[in-house]
Amino acid sequence: MTTGPETGAFTRHLGRIAAALDRFVEFEHPDALVNADVWREQLGGPLPTAGAGIDAVIADLADVLIPNGSRISDPGFSGFITTGPTTAPTAAALASAIAAPQRYMMSAFNFVEETSLLWLAELAGLGPHMKGVYVSGGSVANLVALGAARQHAYEAVGIDPGADGLNGPSPVIYTSSEAHHTVQRAAGVLGLGRSAVRFVPIDERQRMRPDALEEMMAADRTAGLLPVAVVAAAGTTNTGAIDPLVALGEIARSHGVWFHVDGAYGLLGRLDGRVADRYAGLELADSVIVDPHKWLAAPVGVAAAFVRDRAILHRAFTQGPAEYLEGSFVADDDDIQNSMDSMGIPYGDFAVELSAPARGVQVWAIIRELGVSGIRDSIVHDNDLARRVTAAARAHPRLEALTEPELSIACFRYRSADRSPDGLNDLNERILRRLVRETAFAPSSTVVERSFAIRPCYINRRTTIADVDGMIEAVVQLGDDESARESP
Ligand SMILES: *Cc1c(COP(=O)(O)O)cnc(C)c1O
Repeated sequence: MTTGPETGAFTRHLGRIAAALDRFVEFEHPDALVNADVWREQLGGPLPTAGAGIDAVIADLADVLIPNGSRISDPGFSGFITTGPTTAPTAAALASAIAAPQRYMMSAFNFVEETSLLWLAELAGLGPHMKGVYVSGGSVANLVALGAARQHAYEAVGIDPGADGLNGPSPVIYTSSEAHHTVQRAAGVLGLGRSAVRFVPIDERQRMRPDALEEMMAADRTAGLLPVAVVAAAGTTNTGAIDPLVALGEIARSHGVWFHVDGAYGLLGRLDGRVADRYAGLELADSVIVDPHKWLAAPVGVAAAFVRDRAILHRAFTQGPAEYLEGSFVADDDDIQNSMDSMGIPYGDFAVELSAPARGVQVWAIIRELGVSGIRDSIVHDNDLARRVTAAARAHPRLEALTEPELSIACFRYRSADRSPDGLNDLNERILRRLVRETAFAPSSTVVERSFAIRPCYINRRTTIADVDGMIEAVVQLGDDESARESP
């Protein structure tokens, strides 16, 4: 083996990586290649028979991989709902990777796993009765929450789906047509079936219609189906719409049906006083999810699923007892003297992973760094940026705002009077492609009532007002240019 002594290795090697990262966050990317041939030559090749040694690895990381990273962290990037992590949670993730590689057993990291879940619940306005577990992202968090919903619904008709599988009435899940598609996937994985997901119509502001939900649910119950969950969004992925939580939660309650709120992106939007009242009804939720790797800028790989009672997660997801996990641990909490005396809180039985990093320390680091007020400031700032885009689009004769932003997503497009709807969609697609390729600005797109929309989502801590104004100017310029090209 060529590993060699480790003394001083972190200081030496990570110093080089840190310097390369400091260069990367100047966001000029002078060495970026986007050239798979070169990557193949420098990083690919045949399976190495002999090791090149750590110095070669560190050199490849510092000189090739880091300079050829992605644009997600760039100040001009506003695509999808994703962002580059900030320094404090990244340092925390690195620290736990070495010092506490697992979230289980007694260590300071295991301790802040729970502390950070309690802080996050309070930050999100969930109340102390909501208990959480971290998973790898919103997709798995929705899966875990809907696993609890499945347990709840079938236990009520005398079936334990976690233990015995599904053999009862056919399930239905209600969500809006704007819901994240991970809801369907979760239904598939849980054996409920993607086709069990019913799409409730939306109103003119992309919010689920309670009257339509009530009607669909009543009809399905008459037909003998088993409603498993109502899934509302606190911030949809397309436009940031917040479903009417009070009305939806009350309908779910009145039918004894699990009420799940998907706040993967938007839950923390409630910190902005201008929209805080739209989150009323959150207290009716049986489960809520939030992704710290979205609006809290944690490294990708951390979401929290909260439920009223983690015992239902245990019934849904436990592996059952395993000798290799129990043997050497003392049961008595009063006699813990060594990190191996207890497994700590059994997070591994509340969801679908056993081995998992101590993710809570990342959330703990962000909240400790910024506090509630710092986090609120950044969320208000991001919501301001979406409002700025919308106002600019309204004010400009050749732009058009397509939504009224609730949170930090704006939807707008370039417009010219003499074009058909299809022609306008086409034109805006071309503008967006050129924007991403030719400028520093990279929003993504969506469709709002059949109109192709340029859709920036602001959650990037590095984005400034100048980046927003620059993007708008670039869209106008590219739109004018594309229009001029086509004119005879
Ligand atoms: C992003 C998102 C998800 C999926 O989360 P991942 O972390 O990407 O797996 C689910 N629901 C909503 C509303 C989202 O915005």
